[in-house]
This record gives sequence, C-alpha cells and structure tokens, in this order.
Amino acid sequence: HADVAMYAAKSRGRNNFQFFTRALNSVAEERLTLEAAMRVAIERDEFEVHYQPKLDHRRRIVGMEALARWFHPVLGDIRPDRFIPIAEECGLILPLTTCILRRAFAAARRWNQGRDQPLRLAVNLSPRLFLSRDIVAHVSGLLCDAGLPASQVELEVTETVFLGDDELAVGIFRAFKALGLSLAMDDFGTGYSSLSYLRRFPLDTIKIDRSLVVGIEQQDEMAMIARAVISLGQSLRKTVVAEGVENPAQFDFLRFQGCDEFQGYLFSRPLPEAGFARLLEAGGVIAARGD
Ligand code: C2E
Ligand code: MG
Ligand code: MG
Ligand code: MG
Repeated sequence: HADVAMYAAKSRGRNNFQFFTRALNSVAEERLTLEAAMRVAIERDEFEVHYQPKLDHRRRIVGMEALARWFHPVLGDIRPDRFIPIAEECGLILPLTTCILRRAFAAARRWNQGRDQPLRLAVNLSPRLFLSRDIVAHVSGLLCDAGLPASQVELEVTETVFLGDDELAVGIFRAFKALGLSLAMDDFGTGYSSLSYLRRFPLDTIKIDRSLVVGIEQQDEMAMIARAVISLGQSLRKTVVAEGVENPAQFDFLRFQGCDEFQGYLFSRPLPEAGFARLLEAGGVIAARGD
C-alpha cells in the first residue's frame, strides 16, 4: 500500500497523496473497528440467530435455516455478507460459528421436542472450516452438548468449498455423513465451471440460488434454466430446494417443475426465535396471502 500511495503522490501531487492515504486509513480503520467489536461480541455471546422456514409444496414447514445476525449497540445492524468475510479473514470464523451453532442447536432441540416429524435445521458453514478434520469432532461435540440428533441437522456449504484441497474436503464430508448429518450445496448455479463435484461429493440437497429464481415467471430463458437445473438435481436424486421465492407465480412454477422445498419472502422473512416459535404454534403451515 505504501508503494501505491507513493506512486499516487508522485504522479498526482501532494494533495492527492493525502487524500489517498486518508481513504486507505479509513477503510483499514473501519475494518479494525469491526474486528475488535466482533471479538467483544463473540466474547459476550451477542450474535443472534434468525430462522427462515423451509416449506414443502403444501406450504407446511419442514425445516428452517439459521442465519447469523449482529445488532451492534453503536455500529447498528451489520449484515452477514459484511461480517462473515471479516470473520473469515481475521481468524474469528470458528468462534463465531460456534456461537451461532450453540444457539441454533438449542433452539432446534426445543422445537423438536415431542414432534413426530422433526424439523430439519440448516446451518451455514464457511469453506474456511473445511481446512481441518477437527471441524467434524467440534460440530459433533456441539450436537452432544445440545442433545440434538445429528440426523436433524443439515450443513449448507457453497461451491468454493470444492476449490481447495479436494481430498481433504471429501474426507470431511464423508465424516459428517457418517455422523448422520445431511449436506446441502448452497447458492447452486452461481459458481464455477465444474459440475463434477456433484458426483464426487456425497450431497443430499442442492439449493437453487435466488438469482436463478428471479424472473422465471416473466422470462422464458430464465424459466428454462431453472427447469434444467431442477431436472439435473432430480436425475441425481438430490432434494431440490429453491431459495428467494418472492411471489406466487414463482412458487407455482417451481412446484410444478418438481422442486421439493421452498424458502423466501413470499412465505416468511428470517425471524427471531420467538417469531419462529409463534409460526410453529400457529400450526406450521404458511397460508397464501388472501387464503
Ligand atoms: P444464504 O445462506 O444463501 O442465505 C440466504 C440469504 O437470502 C439470507 O440473507 C436471506 O435472508 C436471504 N433471503 C431469503 N429469502 C429471500 C427472498 O425471498 N428475497 C431476497 N431478496 N432475499 C432472501 P442473509 O441472512 O443476509 O445472509 C446472507 C449470507 O450470509 C447467507 O446466504 C450466507 O452465505 C451468509 N451467512 C449467514 N449466516 C451465516 C452463518 O452463520 N455462517 C456463515 N458461514 N455464513 C452465514
Ligand atoms: Mg444458506
Ligand atoms: Mg443460499
Ligand atoms: Mg446466498
């Protein structure tokens, strides 16, 4: 950065140089502020978890995705798209994930007590956590602490998990499967060229990314792409979940094409624990608006 700044100073004059270093400093400072705040928040267990229901084609709740939330008293509401990458880069992703899993496992355990058909809890795991086999024992320990059966939990991972050490990642996947957890490929259709991981990795579920759902009710091309992806998932005998369902026309199309599960603002935004519990108490079916 110093080189870049010097170059800027020489080529554009002194004022520019000062402007440039100040801008660099403020980005770096903001990051440091967030990093420090994150350490404190982890320490104090201040991260929260919201839950977004997943529904079957009859609009019955069959599971929920745990999504991390951070409401900082001074910095305000910070989105996960912002704080997860920082946690990954500064080595806080494991302690942060631990906080999230503890909460979510405890909540799922309570909600599933006495249910004939347990809800499946989905949690997001950063690809950074797939760099060591220790993660398997760690998650297993958290499940034991919470008294939650592994069969009630699904891990959502993005395609970047396949870009690192393939053998290690496959081994970790197998170990998770052996414990009884299920595995979902998140944001399917956004990523990279190779689909060969669909064969190599023991995936149970593919989650079609929201970007493939947008516009399916209006544009033939979007509809055809979505249809092709759904039928790919079906041929491979995966559970196919659609995320980002925002209107009834999208839901009808996806349902007609044979998607198994649905998630999106049409049904519910991610809700705090109490709000999600109320949905379940109300019967666990999310009626269409105007029904
Ligand atoms: P994701 O796992 O793909 O989660 C889905 C995101 O889409 C969530 O954003 C959710 O609130 C949003 N969403 C759901 N339905 C709709 C819809 O109908 N329309 C629109 N426009 N958006 C919808 P959120 O909660 O902001 O999370 C963003 C991303 O941050 C997640 O994407 C996930 O990759 C990451 N993330 C969240 N919590 C965690 C966590 O605990 N650990 C890790 N590693 N990543 C997390
Ligand atoms: Mg997810
Ligand atoms: Mg997703
Ligand atoms: Mg996403």
